[in-house]
Amino acid sequence: MKNQITIKVISKCNGMCRYCAQLPWRGANIGYEMTLSEIMDFVKYTVSSGYHFRMITITGGEPFLWPHLLKSCQLIQEANIAKDLRIITNAMTICKNNLDFLHELIDIIDVLTISRYGKLNSKNIAIIINKFSKSKKLQIYKVIGHYIPPAEPIGSCISCSCPFWSLMGSQVCVCQGMEPILLSLGKCPKDYPEFFSKIGPNYLDKFKSIKKAQSWCKLCITNREVRKHCKRFNNETQK
Ligand code: SF4
Ligand code: SF4
Repeated sequence: MKNQITIKVISKCNGMCRYCAQLPWRGANIGYEMTLSEIMDFVKYTVSSGYHFRMITITGGEPFLWPHLLKSCQLIQEANIAKDLRIITNAMTICKNNLDFLHELIDIIDVLTISRYGKLNSKNIAIIINKFSKSKKLQIYKVIGHYIPPAEPIGSCISCSCPFWSLMGSQVCVCQGMEPILLSLGKCPKDYPEFFSKIGPNYLDKFKSIKKAQSWCKLCITNREVRKHCKRFNNETQK
């Protein structure tokens, strides 16, 4: 299987970026945290369904604020259900006093992606680079623009090639962009039950007949075509 799944483990974030694309989703799910038993169910049914992901990405909110991060990464790696396990973080919780934790985590995962937000996390990133500069697992991206959707949908060109499913609690959504976009349009994702599947045996089968590109994909920042049109979004690799 060549697809990817993003696990949204917590809605809380210490970044408070004004143009956070996850803001509608985070606002609608204040206090949400994934439980360890939900992670265990995800692992169990992924194994029993015979799924193997190209990448599992752990994100939030800010995943370093989630108490089950280390244990969950261990469970996922032990089950061998993904080629790569990645965490996306703003790293703002990292300081000289908790580098042991980061060491342990980096040993387990395959990629640590850090978004660089100028002064907000430059000191944290400097500490990490100083300690882990030799690690090939470290990716640091400078966020130049803001992760906000365009005000108007882009034109007719909409070949969505998004390979992501997303998991929140025990519900898998057909993609990671749908909920934030629908919420920012004032719509309720619960009105679209066909795009959600409960974790259980063969939980991805429900999505087999779904057409990938939907009308809201024209506003979704995950869509490459939208990104090309949206000058406010860009990022570059530091390394
Ligand atoms: S760090 Fe990321 S998730 Fe947190 S507020 Fe900023 S853009 Fe949103
Ligand atoms: S472009 Fe469409 S399918 Fe892709 S992540 Fe966005 S909403 Fe989902």
